[in-house]
Parts: sequence; structure tokens; C-alpha cells
Amino acid sequence: MADTPITQAPELTGEAGYVSPYPYLDRLQEKMEERLARKVPAAGRFCAFCYARLRETDAVCPFCEATIEQTGTVKEIPQDVLRLYKAKRDTEARWVYGLGFVGLIVASILFVVLEVWGPGPLGHPAVGFAVLLFGGYALAQFFGTLIGGQIGYRRGAKKRDALWGEWLSRRVEKG
Ligand SMILES: [Zn+2]
Repeated sequence: MADTPITQAPELTGEAGYVSPYPYLDRLQEKMEERLARKVPAAGRFCAFCYARLRETDAVCPFCEATIEQTGTVKEIPQDVLRLYKAKRDTEARWVYGLGFVGLIVASILFVVLEVWGPGPLGHPAVGFAVLLFGGYALAQFFGTLIGGQIGYRRGAKKRDALWGEWLSRRVEKG
């Protein structure tokens, strides 16, 4: 059961054109970010395969579909595992903010161009400031949230999945 998700061949669909070979990691991401932000208690009852928090009534893990009786449970999520979700989140955030900043720079350049070379009413400071404000916001959204979000998601998820793959093989070695 536990090794099925690893051997599955990824299809070329999914969010931002990247499909995780471990689909449960994407579903766990939000939960792990809550744990990273300490919004939920560190201790609990977790699936010993994917470290999802379990309810007392769960016989099958709702995330990786492991049978709890066979897989067992652990009392907390290992730090190394939390770290790989943090790597995904941080990579994505860097791309969103980084490219968002690019959008602001583009708007600033546009502002200067209008102020210096803008013909007639286009050279009016009010037009320039409107471009700076609304253009800056729109361009930051476009570059950051849209483009940066896509690239960041792909890179972050790939990094996380690679780290999880390493974690899985280390765990197998240890027995
Ligand atoms: Zn699980």
C-alpha cells in the first residue's frame, strides 16, 4: 500500500503544469503550514507513513490511504519532514515577492518615462501617479501572484517532493 504513490507515473496535468509523484504531499501542505505556524499543537496522533494528523476513528489514513493498523502512528511530526514543507512554502513565497517586486519596478520605469517623455496629458503628474499606483498594483499582481506563483509552486513542490523521496529512502534504510 505505502509504495503505490511512488511508482505511479505522473501525468502532465495539474497545478502549474506539475504533478507531484506524491499527491498526498500537496494535500498535506496546508496542514503542515498550520503546524509550522504553531496554529495547532505539536503533539497528537499522526500517520507513521505520511505524518498526517489522525482522528481517533481513522482506520485508514485520509491522506496517504495507509492502513493505520499496519503502518502505526507517531506522536509528533519529525523536524526533517516539517522542514521540507517549509522549503516548499519559502520557495513559493520568494518567487511571488520577487516577481511582485519586478512588477513594481516596471511600473516605476513607466512612471519615469511618462514624466520625462509623456506627450500632452500623458505627461501630467496625475497620470503618472495613477500609473504608479494602479499600474504598480496590477503589475505586482500579474508578475508576482500569477507568474511568480506558478513558477514558485513548481519549483517549491519539486524541491519538497525530492526531499520527501530522500526521506523515504533514508527511512527504508533504517528499517
Ligand atoms: Zn498517511
